[in-house]
Amino acid sequence: MSRIAYVNGQYIPHNEACVHIEDRGYQFSDGIYEVCEVRDGKIIDVKGHLDRLERSAKELSMKQGLSGHALVFVMKEIQQRNKVKNGMIYIQVTRGVAPRNHPFPSDDTPPAVVLTAKSTSRADSDKNAEKGVAVITVPDNRWERVDIKTVSLLPNVMAKQKAKENGAYEAWFVDGENNVTEGSSTNAWIVTKDNVLVTRDAKRGILKGITREGVLKTANNHQIKIEERRFTVKEAQEAKEAFITAATTVVMPVVSIDNKQVGDGKPGEISRRLRQHFHDYAE
Ligand code: PMP
Repeated sequence: MSRIAYVNGQYIPHNEACVHIEDRGYQFSDGIYEVCEVRDGKIIDVKGHLDRLERSAKELSMKQGLSGHALVFVMKEIQQRNKVKNGMIYIQVTRGVAPRNHPFPSDDTPPAVVLTAKSTSRADSDKNAEKGVAVITVPDNRWERVDIKTVSLLPNVMAKQKAKENGAYEAWFVDGENNVTEGSSTNAWIVTKDNVLVTRDAKRGILKGITREGVLKTANNHQIKIEERRFTVKEAQEAKEAFITAATTVVMPVVSIDNKQVGDGKPGEISRRLRQHFHDYAE
């Protein structure tokens, strides 16, 4: 089956879908995006993702093109046209096409909206989760506004590549005080020896993950104690458990950090429970 992409109002075969060379996303990474999980045919946490897209647009004084019902309609359409039962939907909005010039283009420049959908294997993800994954750490060299979900992802790309080259699944960014901020495409979590779930507060330094919100809700409903605070690499390496979260990975146990084993080197009990029950509370 050939894949279909949505590009500025049209459904186009994926291998023919393209944008103009003067799209500001291409030239300036002047764009925003969202990734939603599709599970058993349902799009998870749609409202959370669309609210965050709207916020990202607002923070960058960017028009969103499609919003609310129209965007949900296209998301469902692209999911169905690609027959995605389990997988992901990608939404990207850029400031549109205009002659290359740093300031914003004229007000009547329409934003460029692209959506794609892709099937992924839940079995592969579950297999990874059964073993747990390795992470490495890298200095956080990103700009201050990492709370905005922009397509400007070069530090994240470099970090993930380094993880790959080191046989790891993810790279955790570390700030100047040796605190973990987040992963290159995930939020970072630990469970202390006293079974307290810890993740960095979302005021500064991280993207407020939609999965993060769902996991907090799940933990709360399971009477797991939560602390939203900073933690160092050392605290993480000495923790009972660690894991990462994102819409596409859900809860993924971490079993080593910079080659140092976490806990007994196996996915922890709380991580496993949260992965198992996340969808009971996700919307
Ligand atoms: N942090 C970063 C830097 C990310 O790219 C992502 C994934 N988009 C996340 C955290 C997790 O966010 P979410 O749970 O909304 O997928």
